Amino acid sequence: MSEFGVLALQGDFREHLAALDGLGVKARMVRTLDELKAVDALVIPGGESSVIDRLTRNYGLAQPIKERITAGMPTYGSCAGMIMLADRLENPAVTSTGEQQQTLGGIDMLVRRNAFGRQVDSFEHTLKFADHDLTAVFIRAPEAVQVGPDVAVLSTVPAPDSRAQGRIVAVRQGNLLATSFHPEVTGSRAIHEFFVNLTRGDA
Ligand code: GLN
Repeated sequence: MSEFGVLALQGDFREHLAALDGLGVKARMVRTLDELKAVDALVIPGGESSVIDRLTRNYGLAQPIKERITAGMPTYGSCAGMIMLADRLENPAVTSTGEQQQTLGGIDMLVRRNAFGRQVDSFEHTLKFADHDLTAVFIRAPEAVQVGPDVAVLSTVPAPDSRAQGRIVAVRQGNLLATSFHPEVTGSRAIHEFFVNLTRGDA
């Protein structure tokens, strides 16, 4: 049985703890290196990725998380968490001193932050994820605009033009799962269930 953790520096980590709890999985908050060491699967919540980036580095967690990801720790990133798992960002935030936002990386993809517009452009969309139809909530959501050959596209939303592929909003690469949207704020537990199964080698 895996010990689950939710990175709890910023964002809606409580909703992820509740979503996992609803599946009978007790997860702990991860804010320190010792707490990271105690878990073998991690959720990175939605929030503001540039803040999560800065805090993970300030708390000395960025490098250890990267090492765990490289070593195969199952990790799920939702929205800002998806941004954190991207190997490349199209439009990283830049501070007034010129410092660029960094990611933890792990998924071979190029991500565009805020790809669907601003907070006021937040929307819900019913999409296919594995065998489920689920209502997904997008809040200043990112999009995977390019994915590498080892990345499986799990969900898309229709593109405004005729691109047959649609816009990529859920991906998996090995033990890493990322969604543009926020399953933790809806009643559907399909994504968390998929992640739990993934940690058991069942997905
Ligand atoms: N746009 C935010 C970012 O860049 C993500 C928004 C979210 O997590 N709801 O981090």
